[in-house]
Amino acid sequence: MSVLIVGSTALDSIKTPQAENPRLLGGSASHAAVAASFFGPVRLVGIVGGDFPARYLNLYRRHNIDLEGLQIAPGKTFHWSGEYEVNMNNRRTLATELGVFETFRPRLPESYRDSPFVLLANIAPSLQSHVLDQMRRPKFVVADTMDLWLNIALADLLKLLRRVDAFVLNESEARQLTQEDNLVRAAKKIHRLGPKHVIVKKGEHGALLSSGGRLFLSPAFPLHRVVDPTGAGDSFAGGLMGWLAAARGPVEANLRRAMVYGSAVASFCCEGFGLTATARASRGAVEKRFKALQLLTRF
Ligand code: AMP
Repeated sequence: MSVLIVGSTALDSIKTPQAENPRLLGGSASHAAVAASFFGPVRLVGIVGGDFPARYLNLYRRHNIDLEGLQIAPGKTFHWSGEYEVNMNNRRTLATELGVFETFRPRLPESYRDSPFVLLANIAPSLQSHVLDQMRRPKFVVADTMDLWLNIALADLLKLLRRVDAFVLNESEARQLTQEDNLVRAAKKIHRLGPKHVIVKKGEHGALLSSGGRLFLSPAFPLHRVVDPTGAGDSFAGGLMGWLAAARGPVEANLRRAMVYGSAVASFCCEGFGLTATARASRGAVEKRFKALQLLTRF
């Protein structure tokens, strides 16, 4: 089954203590779409400007990502730049140039409206809601977010949360949203805002799922070297949704496994700048990491 992914499609300029790379393919939807594409067909909804390199469009196409929902508008592609500290868990945004994103209204092609699985990757929550308004009874909707929207669009985010099945956010965002330091209690509070399933991402420490009154922990794949973690959270959500859409049986029963697939895909993202390492990985390589994660947690 197809996964519909909406989010940012960006050019990222990234600086780490080791290297600096300008204008890489980035954006929440790009990372999530390539991650989901290991498992099945993906439909992408986003916007780029006339300056968006053809080689990036070709990268999407090579991953069988349907681009009917990608608007190409006159103007500049959304550009984000960030810098990592020596401890790669700490990142600073240097600049955000909205470009064509400023006037973006996601418009779903008719053929996308019945997509059963919908991933609302990080963009303004009002735009995430606008996508849902155009859908015909999706089977499973997951939303991601970022601290910016908690700060400037909280009311829109709360409205959106009433309409999604699962909410993915990182631990600092969970604490900020709930004013609760303890993540177990924070997850409980988030359930009360709407989502049946709450997934809290904890970077190199994996992710916590709270669902059906139970908790589950997925580890992150232990890497010898992290080159650039930008987009790891988006890759996690994309891998999770891609695998869920391809799996048989009820979503509830598959969520734990989907999280481990999400972790496996996200680990590739961290091994190269932008999407370089993810784009080079294969379904077989993802499967190997999934099995390694199973072994790592068996006792
Ligand atoms: P993550 O590392 O998971 O936080 O995601 C990083 C990605 O988010 C980058 O590829 C950026 O292009 C994208 N991004 C940064 N700021 C924003 C924003 N305000 N809205 C949407 N996407 C953004």
